[in-house]
Amino acid sequence: MAQKILIDLEKFRSLPGKSSDESPPEGLYGPSVGAQGLKSIRELAVFQFTCRRCTDAPCIEVCPADALEKNEEDIITRSTNLCISCKSCVVICPFGTMMTDFFDYHRDEENYYDVMDKKELDQFIRNSPEGAVQLVDMEEDPEQHIFKLNDHILVRERMWKTDNL
Ligand code: SF4
Ligand code: SF4
Repeated sequence: MAQKILIDLEKFRSLPGKSSDESPPEGLYGPSVGAQGLKSIRELAVFQFTCRRCTDAPCIEVCPADALEKNEEDIITRSTNLCISCKSCVVICPFGTMMTDFFDYHRDEENYYDVMDKKELDQFIRNSPEGAVQLVDMEEDPEQHIFKLNDHILVRERMWKTDNL
């Protein structure tokens, strides 16, 4: 079985906030460089696990750049080449699921790592809190709040549905 990257988003959230001098490292993922581009793993996880999937999706309606859409699995996706970082979607989301810093990163900044690049992944693991990023031989395990983000990445996160049942 190929190893997967397990990212513990709960551990990252326990780190000091943005007001601290030290921002936590951020993992980026993009299966194909192109229209969708590299995105933060936090953004991907929020759209997949904590977004309430509103039927009328006010975030899509408000986007002035047509950068948001739903994919075939009803998950919101953002085209990074269209997004103008206006943050209108962040403001209008009634559940506060999006964070303004999802849309801020620039690839030349320090502390951003493409997890599909072995060297950058090693640096991401080294610079993250102990145990927050690991290479594992396992599949998703909802009892431990570990969910499959994609074929390469598992995240430890609270899914909104399980919290509200
Ligand atoms: S930040 Fe603005 S342009 Fe980007 S997805 Fe949100 S609403 Fe659209
Ligand atoms: S408005 Fe918020 S909760 Fe609703 S679909 Fe958009 S991101 Fe998800």
